[in-house]
Amino acid sequence: MPVTNPRIKVRNDREIVAGEYVLYWMQQSQRAEHNPALDIAIQEANRLHLPVIVGFGLTDAYPEANLRHYRFMLEGLVDVKDRLIKMGIQLVVRMGSPDRVALELGQQAALMVCDVGYTRYQRQWRWRVAKQAPCLVVQVEGDVVVPVAVASAKAEYAARTFRPRVKKHIHDFLRLSRPVKPQQPSLGMEIHGLDLNDIDTVLSKLDLDRSVEPVTGLFKGGTSEANRRLKNFLGQHLDHYDANRNQPQTDDISHMSPYLHFGQISPVRLALAVRDAKSGQASDRDGYLEELIVRRELAVNFVYYEKEYDRYTCLPAWAQKTLAEHAGDPREYKYSQDVLEAAQTHDPYWNAAMREMKHTGFMHNYMRMYWGKKILEWSGSPEQAFATTLSINNKYFLDGRDPNSYAGVAWVFGKHDRAWFERPIFGKVRYMAASGLERKCDIKAYVEKVDGRVRGLKS
Ligand SMILES: Cc1cc2nc3c(=O)[nH]c(=O)nc-3n(C[C@H](O)[C@H](O)[C@H](O)COP(=O)(O)OP(=O)(O)OC[C@H]3O[C@@H](n4cnc5c(N)ncnc54)[C@H](O)[C@@H]3O)c2cc1C
Repeated sequence: MPVTNPRIKVRNDREIVAGEYVLYWMQQSQRAEHNPALDIAIQEANRLHLPVIVGFGLTDAYPEANLRHYRFMLEGLVDVKDRLIKMGIQLVVRMGSPDRVALELGQQAALMVCDVGYTRYQRQWRWRVAKQAPCLVVQVEGDVVVPVAVASAKAEYAARTFRPRVKKHIHDFLRLSRPVKPQQPSLGMEIHGLDLNDIDTVLSKLDLDRSVEPVTGLFKGGTSEANRRLKNFLGQHLDHYDANRNQPQTDDISHMSPYLHFGQISPVRLALAVRDAKSGQASDRDGYLEELIVRRELAVNFVYYEKEYDRYTCLPAWAQKTLAEHAGDPREYKYSQDVLEAAQTHDPYWNAAMREMKHTGFMHNYMRMYWGKKILEWSGSPEQAFATTLSINNKYFLDGRDPNSYAGVAWVFGKHDRAWFERPIFGKVRYMAASGLERKCDIKAYVEKVDGRVRGLKS
C-alpha cells in the first residue's frame, strides 16, 4: 500500500495476507467520525473487497485508571458502537490487554490499521503488535493536528520555540479525511465480544479502583456529548474566551479535554469548528487555537521525546538546581496527600479547587496552575511535591494520564517556563499567590460556583 500521507506510517515489514476482514484496532481514537484511521481501514477494505472489524481491548490493568475513567470511556464506546452499526461495521470489545486483543483479532485479518498514542504503555502495545502480527500493520496519527515528528524532530524547550515550528505545518494538516462508506458489512460476522448494552455489568466484571466515583451527571462520555458541548461552547462562550480564559468563576471554556483525552472528538474537527465559527472575535479564535494546537501539541512533543515524562528528572537542569538549593527552606504549612485530597488546608481557594477536581473530575486551567504551585509550596521536598501532584491529578481528573497531565504538572516545577525572581522554596521557579487570585479574578465567586455545583451533585 503506497504511503504519501505523513499521518500514516508502516509499522512492520509483513504483507497484506489472505484474511476475513481488515481490522481497525481502535485504542486511542475512540470515535467513529473524523477518524482517519477508520477511514483508511474502510478504504483498504473496499479495495480488498473485505469487511471492516473495529477491535478494542478493555484492560483493567491500566495504571491509575479508576471507575470514574472507565465509566466515561465505556459511555464513549457505546456511542462508537451505535455509530458503527449505522455504517454496517461491527465493534468487538474484548476484555484483556489491548495488544493481546489486537493480536487475537489480527489472526484473521488481511491488514491491521491502528491509531497512535504517545504515553509509554500505548507505545509498548503498538510495538508488540507490529512485531507479532501476522499481517501488515499501519498506524494513522489522528489525535493531533500536526503529526508529532513532523512538528519537530526534538524535545522543544518552550512554547516560544515550538510555536513557529508547528505553525508552519498547520495549514497542511487542518483538513478532515474524506469519510468512506464500507462496501461489505461486518455486522453479521460471528466474532465474540462484550455486550456493551449494560455498562454496569461490564464495569462489575472489571477489577478496578472504585474509590473515585463517576461524574456522569456532569460529564457524560462520547462523541455525541462532545459535539453537544462544542455547539454550546461556540454559541455561548467562544465570544468571551479571550477575555475570560483566566477567570475561573466563569465557564467560558470548552471543557473538551476529557473528550480529547479519550479520542472521542478529533482535534482537527475541533480546530476547524473554532477557526470557521461565526461567533467570537479573531482574538477568541486565535487564543483557542493557541491552546488546542500549540500548547496541547507541545505536551505531546514532551511525552514523545522525553522518556522520563512522569518523573522528577524530566525537569530542566536549571529548575532542578534552583529547587534543590531551596529544598531545605522552612515551610510555613506542610500537608500530607491525605489532607490535600480531603481539601482541608488553610487556603479556601485551594480547597475549592480540590473540591472541584474531586467531585466534578475537572478544574479550570487557571486554578490547575494555582493548585499545583501550592502543592510545591506545602510539601516536604520538591520531589515529593511532584509525585503528589501527578498522583492526585491522574486520580481525579477525567482528562488525567494524558500528555497534558504530564506537561501540566511538570510546568508547575519549571518545565516549558523560564526562570523568575528568586524566592523561598520555589527558587527561580514561577510562584503564584492567593493575593494574585484576588487581584486578577473574582475568586470568591469561583468558590461559590464550586460549592453550588458540589451541593447540586450531593442533593
Ligand atoms: C497543573 C496542571 C495540570 C494539568 N493537568 C491536565 C490533565 O491532566 N489533562 C489535560 O488534558 N490537561 C491538563 N492541564 C492543561 C489544561 O489545564 C487543561 O487541558 C484545560 O484546563 C482543559 O479545559 P478545557 O478543555 O475547557 O480547555 P480550553 O481552554 O477550552 O482549551 C481547549 C483545549 O486546549 C488545550 N489546552 C487548554 N489549556 C491548555 C494548557 N494550559 N496546556 C495544554 N493544553 C491546553 C486542551 O486540550 C483543551 O481541551 C493541566 C494544566 C496544569 C497547569
